[in-house]
Amino acid sequence: MSDWQKILHESIDSLDKLATKFGTDAIDVDGLKPAFDNFQMRITPAALAQIKEVGDPMWNQYVPTVQELDIVDGVIDSLDEDGDSPVPNITHRYPDRALFLVSPVCASYCRFCTRRRKVGDPEKIPLNQYDSAFEYLAAHPEIRDVILSGGDPMMLSDRRLEYIFQRLRAIPHIEIIRIGSRITSHLPERITDEFCQMVRKYHPVYMNTHFNHPSELTPAAVAALSRLADAGVPLGCQTVLLRGVNDDPQVMKELMQKLLKARVRPYYIYMADQVAGGEHFRTQVEKGLEIVKALRGWTSGLAVPHFVIDAPGGGGKVPLLPEYVEEINEDEVVFRNYEGKRFVYKQPRQPITVSGCGDPLAPAAQNDVVPIQIGKKAAARPRRRRKTGS
Ligand SMILES: *Cc1c(COP(=O)(O)O)cnc(C)c1O
Repeated sequence: MSDWQKILHESIDSLDKLATKFGTDAIDVDGLKPAFDNFQMRITPAALAQIKEVGDPMWNQYVPTVQELDIVDGVIDSLDEDGDSPVPNITHRYPDRALFLVSPVCASYCRFCTRRRKVGDPEKIPLNQYDSAFEYLAAHPEIRDVILSGGDPMMLSDRRLEYIFQRLRAIPHIEIIRIGSRITSHLPERITDEFCQMVRKYHPVYMNTHFNHPSELTPAAVAALSRLADAGVPLGCQTVLLRGVNDDPQVMKELMQKLLKARVRPYYIYMADQVAGGEHFRTQVEKGLEIVKALRGWTSGLAVPHFVIDAPGGGGKVPLLPEYVEEINEDEVVFRNYEGKRFVYKQPRQPITVSGCGDPLAPAAQNDVVPIQIGKKAAARPRRRRKTGS
């Protein structure tokens, strides 16, 4: 057994152990049992050390509550990932990239998990059914980017990870490999020198980490991130906006700045998904816009991730921006800067075209490109009929 596996075994993985640690005042063992039965619980030593007191942001992320059993309007598979799954373990939603679930387990289990319908259950993310996934990826030359997810891919052994990398690198059209993992926060010991040596052979390999609160960037986590960066793994971070954890512009700003300092480029802030059992984590969308507004201009642009909603029902990620534009017409754009000051940008004197739906790089004839019909100048240009569909 490797060192990180031994550390994993020291995790708290039952309500009884949790009650022993925090006391029966803090843990209602009988009341929480259904929540525990409904979804895995495990809190690694690293995650446990981040909990300072009952009900703090770290506690809220990992300790089940009875609210998990309130099913409001959440659904089991809110992003319809299974609807876009051509073979087991693959979700192919976007034109040129695919999601490949390679591990059913995580080091610690986040209570707001969007994939809780599967995670923790090796029958739903089967390890013995990789073949059809590799065959699918090989048969689809348009896929140039494969995102390994789960569960947490870093819960696999180096041997199994290397097998996956080798199989993917045998497919010429796969340009980049991404790993989605929360391990740098949960089990930083997993980022071993052996792993770092191994991963170098399969570059470009990116990792999207997952940090939600500045106190997750412990010295051990920062050291793990540093080992990955030194191994040439570009690091991003996918943060989830969570009530009672990080729904505060100051907290988010500190998190983003600390990430950058640890050589992690913040990538996305997600609205919490409408997942059954996760209602108590959701905030209003305005909170996310407020946070982006508090970042843009006020700190390094590198510290400003895209704020997105992963569209329920499988529409994919859609970015939302605070409103900076006040008016846009053929002569000028009127907008406000981060301080709220008003500015005007003059439009160039050229015919304007906008592309409609579909691939914006496709030839115009197939792509529904129409001149904007504004004012008298546009009226003087020949009209082109707008096609429907693409
Ligand atoms: C998020 C996601 C991706 C990757 O999207 P990017 O915007 O390229 O990071 C790919 N497939 C699915 C199903 C996803 O949910």
